[in-house]
Amino acid sequence: MRIATSKFRLALGYSFSIILMMTMAACNLKITPEKGCNFVMNSMQQRVSWNSNLPISIYIHDSVPSDYIPAVTNAMKTWETALGRKLFEVVGVVSGPATPQKDGVSIIYFMSKWEESKTSEQARTTIYWQGEQIVEGDIRINAKNFTFSTGSSPVAASVDFESLLIHELGHLLGLAHDNEAGSVMNERLASGVLRRDIGNVDLASVKCEY
Ligand SMILES: [Zn+2]
Repeated sequence: MRIATSKFRLALGYSFSIILMMTMAACNLKITPEKGCNFVMNSMQQRVSWNSNLPISIYIHDSVPSDYIPAVTNAMKTWETALGRKLFEVVGVVSGPATPQKDGVSIIYFMSKWEESKTSEQARTTIYWQGEQIVEGDIRINAKNFTFSTGSSPVAASVDFESLLIHELGHLLGLAHDNEAGSVMNERLASGVLRRDIGNVDLASVKCEY
């Protein structure tokens, strides 16, 4: 019996898009569907996650302004404090063109260019997985259509960068959107609002995997 090998790419943003590349052999493999726990599911209805492959090694592209980096690390610490374990490791800063791609390296980008058809999208996280294992995740921040604030108080008409990163790191961990009240995975993050507290619903979700 040949086990099907599947490679998936899922972009998680304001709108979902899924690109599926799959070679499937005839196979009677049966897997009991897992409880979703608000995770992205693979075609076998299993949650995708980094499993025990933690911490997630992540690079910051040099397009991210240096004074925004503390907000990134704060967002990481927020998830880690909520879960009581190390989840992320910032390996370093990478330079070169800001062209996210599937290259085996997880990178956070601050994009000065954005698709004209997606101007309402504040950010986009793309995760790649094989089986149930996430192998890479890239985060794009839409710096073309949004302005950001990083202080401890909200700024009108600006998106709180730390709140946005908490949401995108949730996607990096494997979470999908959750429109329950109090979730940091609500699809929309209003401008001029801080949303920096992991909700009970989010904690219950991530604990299914981590
Ligand atoms: Zn999202």
